[in-house]
Amino acid sequence: MSSNPQKTRHLLGQSAVVVGAGIIGLLSACVLSDYFDHVVILDKDDAQEDGGPIFQARKNAPQGHHLHILLSGGSQIIEDLFPGIDKDFTQAGAQQIYFPRDIRWFISNRWFPRHRGELKTFIQTRPLLEAVIRARVRALPNVTLKSSTRVIDYRLGPDGQAVTGVSVLDSDAVRRVIDSDFVVDAGGRGALLTKWLERQTFGPLRETLMGIDLAYATTFFDLPPDPDRDWKMLVCHPEAPQQKTGGVISSVENGHWHVTLAGYHKDHAPTDIEGFKAYAARLPVPDLYEQIKDLTPIAPIRSYYFPASLRRHFDEMQELPDGLVGIGDVIGSLNPAFGQGISNGALQVDALHRHLAKRAERREGLAGLQFPYYAEATKAIDPAWNMAGSENLRDPLTTGHRPWHFALSQWYSNRLLKSPDVHVVEQFFRVMHLVDPPSSLMTPDMIRRVLKVGRMDIGARRVPEAGVHT
Ligand SMILES: Cc1cc2nc3c(=O)[nH]c(=O)nc-3n(C[C@H](O)[C@H](O)[C@H](O)COP(=O)(O)OP(=O)(O)OC[C@H]3O[C@@H](n4cnc5c(N)ncnc54)[C@H](O)[C@@H]3O)c2cc1C
Repeated sequence: MSSNPQKTRHLLGQSAVVVGAGIIGLLSACVLSDYFDHVVILDKDDAQEDGGPIFQARKNAPQGHHLHILLSGGSQIIEDLFPGIDKDFTQAGAQQIYFPRDIRWFISNRWFPRHRGELKTFIQTRPLLEAVIRARVRALPNVTLKSSTRVIDYRLGPDGQAVTGVSVLDSDAVRRVIDSDFVVDAGGRGALLTKWLERQTFGPLRETLMGIDLAYATTFFDLPPDPDRDWKMLVCHPEAPQQKTGGVISSVENGHWHVTLAGYHKDHAPTDIEGFKAYAARLPVPDLYEQIKDLTPIAPIRSYYFPASLRRHFDEMQELPDGLVGIGDVIGSLNPAFGQGISNGALQVDALHRHLAKRAERREGLAGLQFPYYAEATKAIDPAWNMAGSENLRDPLTTGHRPWHFALSQWYSNRLLKSPDVHVVEQFFRVMHLVDPPSSLMTPDMIRRVLKVGRMDIGARRVPEAGVHT
């Protein structure tokens, strides 16, 4: 669904507030700008200006130091919201890549077959991604972005049933009230929303955790030119439970290369360069290490600890105030190693868009919108949650619920990941990129193709890498 400010729509209110100018807050503001006279985005960070060094993430989005892959599902939604933004990304230096042609991916103890697939997206640093989207949002005439403004409370109307605005501390630490017909909280995993709902006796919000004890270590290198390098990203994915360490090297803007090493369950990468390289040498294949072994990083090595994937079941709440919804990491904060966070949030933005459009079309107000919205937005996480879970829960050290069909799903996905059939590979990527639903891997034709994989293939420890097929 595309956001089109030119189109005359029935407005749903005078003003909307978005808490958080992260990527999902920015996308939400774009959608809201079609349905409200004025939209204000509030962020406690003071580093909202465009430009600056690519290695410098914002203080309140420290994950921005680390690799941020944009899956095709998210990329398509962003392009729908901001037509032509692909060109802005390219001009800013992002690298367009096609999956799986431009990626060497070691998973399930083999190099995944490469062919000229249709799925495309961009690779870049997160600061670049955010800056390009922020520039588009700043250009929307009815959207204002206020930095250094911390939201400290939501305001409930006299009947206690609807949110009427937010209280903020502005850059001078002055407390102010901003009235609003609709508040979208895109404040990330630690957003105010959940504690506030409990405080206001809307009840406890059920959360599901999957304990993965994951740590990232990331830096940048300048690789010397290599005519044989026919890829833009190389991913080494650990085969749980035997392997705990993975890594990615990825081409980003200005000719730099982003290197992230990630380890589960106490096997975490060191942040000194000798330890970092030694850890890279321990990855299941030496290919990433070979790229960096003689090089000096051009940025500090930064770490990020991610104890558990988290989802919040807003859809189960019986009572919730009107005029307030959460979005993005507020609803689900997923294992970053699968690169799903932004695309998941974008799917929720899409759900919000559909519900706002429906209300506007029917000339209905906003009352009660939160319930159908959450039903859809919470469900939108299922594919990503289940996909990451099917990998992570293979390790007995991962805590979390293993569904009754876990062993059967593992059996099937092992076969699927070993399939040499280009059709299977293509469809797997479409699901992994959150473009198609997981059910598309279970059609009779797909099952037949997947089961064709012989016993010899399944048993093979290492399958040699083939080149790119046309
Ligand atoms: C190490 C790491 C690597 C990742 N890699 C990827 C990847 O490769 N691909 C991918 O798609 N996703 C990745 N993710 C996930 C991704 O970062 C998030 O899912 C995505 O940024 C969406 O987050 P968000 O906009 O909901 O929240 P955030 O990006 O966390 O933004 C929240 C914003 O809200 C502001 N804020 C919070 N509270 C307040 C308040 N009270 N008042 C005012 N402002 C407030 C903060 O300053 C911040 O700017 C990764 C995450 C981590 C931790």
